[in-house]
Amino acid sequence: MSHPLFDISGRTALVTGSSRGIGLALARGLAEAGCTVVLNGRDADRLERAAAGLPGEVHTSVFDVTDGSSVDAGIAGIEDRVGPLDILVNNAGVQLRAPLLEFAESDWHRLLDTNLTSAFLVGRAAARGMTQRGRGKIINICSLQSEVVRPGIAPYAATKGALKMLTKGMCADWGPYGVQVNGLGPGYIETELTAPLVRDEEFSAWVRRRTPAGRWGRTEDLVGGVLFLASPAADFVGGQVLYVDGGMTSVL
Ligand code: NAP
Repeated sequence: MSHPLFDISGRTALVTGSSRGIGLALARGLAEAGCTVVLNGRDADRLERAAAGLPGEVHTSVFDVTDGSSVDAGIAGIEDRVGPLDILVNNAGVQLRAPLLEFAESDWHRLLDTNLTSAFLVGRAAARGMTQRGRGKIINICSLQSEVVRPGIAPYAATKGALKMLTKGMCADWGPYGVQVNGLGPGYIETELTAPLVRDEEFSAWVRRRTPAGRWGRTEDLVGGVLFLASPAADFVGGQVLYVDGGMTSVL
C-alpha cells in the first residue's frame, strides 16, 4: 500500500502537449494514479488515438497553447465539461536547432511562444480557478537546458532558463493562495523531439558517456517526479526544479 501523502486519485489533471512523447507518458502516469486526465494538442485525431490507449476517465481538449483566446476558451471548456482543474502540467514544447548566427527570427519567436508564453497563458488561465479554490498544483516541464547549454540550441535554452524563473515567479504570486508551482527538468529522453540526436551514433554515445546513469532517459523515468510534485507530499515544495536527468547536470 502506498503512503496517503502520495494519493492523488480523483483529481482532475490537464497535461498540455500530450498526444505523444513525454506529455503522453505523464498523462498515463496520472491516469494510472487514479486522476481524471485531460489530453491536449493541436491534432484532434492524434489526441483521440492517444486517449483510447489510456486507462480510466480520459478527456481531450484541442487548442493551441500559444494562442491566448484559444487557451482561455480551452480551460473554460474543460472546467465546464470535466470539472475544476486540480493539476496542470505545462509540457507542450518544441526544439529548433541551428547555429545562433543563422537562427531565423521567426524560429526564435516560435520557440518563445511554444515553450515559454504557453506556460504563462495556460498557467494564468488555470490559476484563476485554482487560486479562488485555494488549492492546485502546477508543474512546468523545464529541461537540463534550464541550467546548461551546448552550441546550436541557445534559443531553446533561453526559453527553458526563463521557464525556470517563471516557475519561481508563479510560486511567488500564487503560493499565498495555496497553489504550488514547481518544475521538472528532464535530461536526454528518447522522443520524437530528440529522434535526430538518438539517430546520430556519435551524439548518442556522448550522451551515454556524459550521463552517470549511462543511458538515455525513457519517458517513464519522468512519471515518479510528476506524481510527487502533484501530490500532497509536495504541499510545502515551491518554485523548485526537480532534475530527472540520470545525474547529468551534477557532473562535468
Ligand atoms: P514531442 O515528442 O515533440 O511532443 C510535443 C507535444 O507537444 C506533442 O504532443 C505536440 O502535439 C504538442 N504541441 C506542440 N506544439 C503545441 C502547441 N502549440 N499547442 C499544443 N500542443 C502542442 O516532445 P517531447 O520530447 O515529448 O517534449 C515534451 C516537453 O519536454 C517539451 O517541453 C520539451 O522541451 C521538454 N523536454 C524534452 C526533453 C527530451 O529529451 N525529449 C528533454 C528536456 C525537456 P501536436 O503537434 O499534435 O500539437
